[in-house]
Amino acid sequence: MKQLELLHEGKSKMIYATDSAERIMIRFKNDATAFYNIKRATIENKAKMNCAISTMVLGYLNDNGVNTHFVERLDEESQLCKAVKHIPVEVIVRNVVAGSMAKRLGIAEGTVPENTIFDLCLRSDELGDPLINDHHAVALGIASYEELAEIYETSARINTLLVELYAKAGINLVDFKIEFGRGSRGELVLADELTPDTCRLWDVESGEPLDKDRFRRDMGRVREAYEEVAMRLNNALNK
Ligand code: UDP
Repeated sequence: MKQLELLHEGKSKMIYATDSAERIMIRFKNDATAFYNIKRATIENKAKMNCAISTMVLGYLNDNGVNTHFVERLDEESQLCKAVKHIPVEVIVRNVVAGSMAKRLGIAEGTVPENTIFDLCLRSDELGDPLINDHHAVALGIASYEELAEIYETSARINTLLVELYAKAGINLVDFKIEFGRGSRGELVLADELTPDTCRLWDVESGEPLDKDRFRRDMGRVREAYEEVAMRLNNALNK
């Protein structure tokens, strides 16, 4: 597989074309941004850790029957993935109230709701990824009600599998963000990284965050947290 032109440079990844129209190459970056690029930094070793973590998590989901874009890890910082047509929404799955939900609704961070909460956000840097609902998504022509139902069902299945995996690693999966695409046959594909950049991960014992909140909230030991997650996941998967 040959790496060809750069298709897109994101905040934490570069996406390249390959000599197959069905494959793309993802290269993780050490860059970290928050609050829509207002806060920026470089976190040493993040690309390597995120590549390792996303490889383990997406590989585990593939093995458990979830259709993800992940094909294989190519080197320490890059992955070969399926090319898909992206659906321009972010799905946020919440098991514990934190972050924007805590702030917006005035609920204490750490509150555990009885149900799993699914947020839908429109992917738009200009608009700041606004929260939308199913009716907005249908009106915008993003997905039909049936397709949204499939997206929620798949997100719930992903959540169940991830909660189980992270529990084995002594980590409470608080929330995470995922994106989907459609493959060449129209099938739904999970097409996103799953890393401490996009998940809230709290140590079960201490409640300490092991994720990007350490960077967002200037808590220090960011690199160490990502390394800890990679190590614990590796142990959990090899138990
Ligand atoms: N998240 C993300 N990308 C985004 C927005 C959120 O990866 O553009 C992740 C975030 O890391 C957290 C979860 O989604 O794990 C919920 O984020 P929230 O809505 O609470 O927003 P935040 O507090 O990060 O502004």
